Amino acid sequence: MNSKNLKANLINGEWVTASDGQQNLNPSEPADVIGEFSRADEAQVSTAVEAAADSLDAWKNSSPQVRADILETVGTRLIQEKDRIGRLLSREEGKTLAEGVGETVRAGQIFKFYAQEALRVSGDAVASLRPGVDAEVVREALGVVGIITPWNFPIAIPAWKIAPALAYGNTVVFKPAELTPACAHVLAKLLADAGIPAGVFNLVMGSGSLVGKALTENPTVDGISFTGSVPVGRQIARASLETMKKIQLEMGGKNPMVVLADADLNLAVEVSINAAFFSTGQRCTAASRLIVQASVFDEFVEKLSAAMSSLRIGNALDPATQIGPVVSRQQLDSNLSYVDVARGEASDVLGGEKLDLPGSGYFQSPALFVGTSNDAVTSREEIFGPCASVIKASDFDEAVAIANDTKFGLCAGICTTSLRHATNFKKLSATGMVMVNLPTAGVDYHVPFGGRKASSYGPREQGHYAADFYTTVKTNYTFAG
Ligand code: NAP
Ligand code: MG
Repeated sequence: MNSKNLKANLINGEWVTASDGQQNLNPSEPADVIGEFSRADEAQVSTAVEAAADSLDAWKNSSPQVRADILETVGTRLIQEKDRIGRLLSREEGKTLAEGVGETVRAGQIFKFYAQEALRVSGDAVASLRPGVDAEVVREALGVVGIITPWNFPIAIPAWKIAPALAYGNTVVFKPAELTPACAHVLAKLLADAGIPAGVFNLVMGSGSLVGKALTENPTVDGISFTGSVPVGRQIARASLETMKKIQLEMGGKNPMVVLADADLNLAVEVSINAAFFSTGQRCTAASRLIVQASVFDEFVEKLSAAMSSLRIGNALDPATQIGPVVSRQQLDSNLSYVDVARGEASDVLGGEKLDLPGSGYFQSPALFVGTSNDAVTSREEIFGPCASVIKASDFDEAVAIANDTKFGLCAGICTTSLRHATNFKKLSATGMVMVNLPTAGVDYHVPFGGRKASSYGPREQGHYAADFYTTVKTNYTFAG
């Protein structure tokens, strides 16, 4: 590894390279090497954690205006530089340019939102049971927070963890996904440029099995906020319990989209295309089970497959592209093996072919598993690609039962023009989020994000609800004498 060109970790305010590095490739065109990024070793992780611990008191006791100003500066830079950073995001992750730029703007908005939240930390003054005694409830920073993120939203997810962590006075050690270190590196650079004090924010790039594991096992880390798969979430939960860390886990989904006979079918098709296939289906909130009422099943499938065949799949950086590549060779192989499984489960499989396009990227056509059962492997496991089951339901009640019959519980959608069905669906869905006549993916940043069952564990993310994870409550009693 040529250490001269190795992108560095940020540890205790210094940019330090590791002895080992990893190439970051463009999934639209794997011969395009974006850069070589440091892979931290265990010693670098513990130096970063110590630096975060040493800088904690000064940061949590700093004026909230100091924290607000830094977050505001980062937010402004993200929005000003949305085209440069959005392009880099699309180049390393493979989502379209419009999605890459949109995600960068979202990250900027999140930083600006939490800049203001730094000024809104409040508590309660409560009458004590004892005369002459005052009781007060205050919120304090949780402490040193480890942040571990996936590759699929490489700037927005880090933003919605790092910004509230810093706003509420925590110090951070951030481990991004190894597939997408470039966006993480940009974010670290923006924080350093904005004047974040040494040690308050640290970037340690590298693998989950080494860097992620070292962070979760370090006894000085007070909390871990993780987004990723269920098996890794479970491992982190176990390791965190050993040292009694607070945890926040956002994991997978197998989100249903119910289409009733009374739906506007054109809208239902538009919503389903977006929810199932945009961002190459690589969203935890993607709809991967389309549950369609029997009387409109054939018409819906016909309209959906016509819409699918007009989708433009190609290089993420081509402005005409609607669906970019799958993130990696390994993920593409996994998707295609699920398509093979679906051939034995569904009455018909549409699409799901490997595409040989210029650039030799990891391209596939979106796949529909028509007339499959909710018990099928492809309806139960999260595929995390542009693949959706279409499942028949006789009526509203059966559709709801199928929608809830899954180990996941992140988001559920329904397309209907009936107020009664929409209202009941919102009540009956065993999920953290419900969408009516909207794609399951696509959320606001000032309201809670998260799910139930195997999809989420611990307090919600986003909005002011983020304070439930990033702060801890203290109750003070005072007798004035
Ligand atoms: P992943 O494989 O679980 O990895 C997530 C992060 O954990 C990565 O940074 C990974 O490092 C790290 N990691 C791996 N093993 C670890 C260990 N033993 N200890 C600590 N950290 C470890 O997930 P992914 O493949 O990146 O992302 C896809 C998954 O994320 C899907 O299941 C998707 O549904 C989920 N997701 C959920 C949400 C949500 O909010 N609910 C949002 C987006 C994505 P590496 O760099 O080595 O991979
Ligand atoms: Mg993974």
